[in-house]
Amino acid sequence: VKKSGRNNYQFVTPSLQKEADERLTVQHGLHQALERQEFELFYQPQINFSTQKISGVEALIRWNNPDRGLVTPDEFIAISEETGLIVPIGTWVLEQACRQISDWNKLSTPPTPYLSVNMSIRQFQQKNFISEMERILLKYNIKPQQLELELTESLLIHNLTETQNKLFTLKDMGVRLAIDDFGTGYSSLQYLKSLPLDVLKIDQSFIQDIGIDHNNEAIVQTIISLANNLDLWVVAEGVVTQRQYDFLKLKGCGSYQGYYYSKPIKEHELLEVIKKQSLY
Ligand code: C2E
Ligand code: CA
Ligand code: CA
Ligand code: CA
Repeated sequence: VKKSGRNNYQFVTPSLQKEADERLTVQHGLHQALERQEFELFYQPQINFSTQKISGVEALIRWNNPDRGLVTPDEFIAISEETGLIVPIGTWVLEQACRQISDWNKLSTPPTPYLSVNMSIRQFQQKNFISEMERILLKYNIKPQQLELELTESLLIHNLTETQNKLFTLKDMGVRLAIDDFGTGYSSLQYLKSLPLDVLKIDQSFIQDIGIDHNNEAIVQTIISLANNLDLWVVAEGVVTQRQYDFLKLKGCGSYQGYYYSKPIKEHELLEVIKKQSLY
């Protein structure tokens, strides 16, 4: 808070009040959003460097707010985490993702081998998370291998033993497990050897500095070799430029995701992309 002289308090109070009001409005809006089905999943393709084909797709939630238009998760995920609303929202995301996979399975060329979903700590820590997962997979009758869960490092270190058990159960079921935003947390190397992970996603902050910072490039290169040597599939996030693309391909990165290929898009747009891709 900035000291702004005599009117200090008059300045601070209304703005804090405004912030609190806004949070309440968002909370209320989120409750309604669930009831009124205002959430929507967007899809961002991941492209395999060697085949140039879509190797996977990440589902990213959007909120079609009647007043504010399309709202991105940065504006409501944190609040939902705090209030616990992330649990029903997360269940909706999982259900929607599995319903989508089952719809795609009916097409002659399904757009993706697997759909990847972001997990929140709160949702993952629910006592009934595993049984919910089983229920949903059964309900939509999809192969667990078609679903990938993206877990952040902070989620992984929380209650390590319990988390580990859950991950091994999920792995036994056949669900794919990815570590998201890799490199932004700490003690990352410990769980790379102790957790049953399939995929490592290099955080976009590292990708951004390719071509700019040599130390950073050394880190990216090392993460890629590490992942390859541990038999983890490695995905680079936030690839925007040709230079980043060339560097990652040269260093043996598995797939990439980012505006260079496509931003997150609606389902019908994804299907268009697939149709075009099949022409080549
Ligand atoms: P994330 O999982 O790291 O997702 C990647 C974010 O980077 C997405 O932002 C995506 O739109 C954006 N992005 C993709 N390619 C590029 C690029 O080339 N350049 C740049 N600058 N950005 C790119 P988005 O969709 O706004 O999502 C933000 C975060 O919200 C996600 O970060 C994830 O942590 C969270 N989130 C999204 N959907 C869900 C969900 O269904 N459940 C939960 N719990 N969290 C979600
Ligand atoms: Ca993610
Ligand atoms: Ca990420
Ligand atoms: Ca992120």
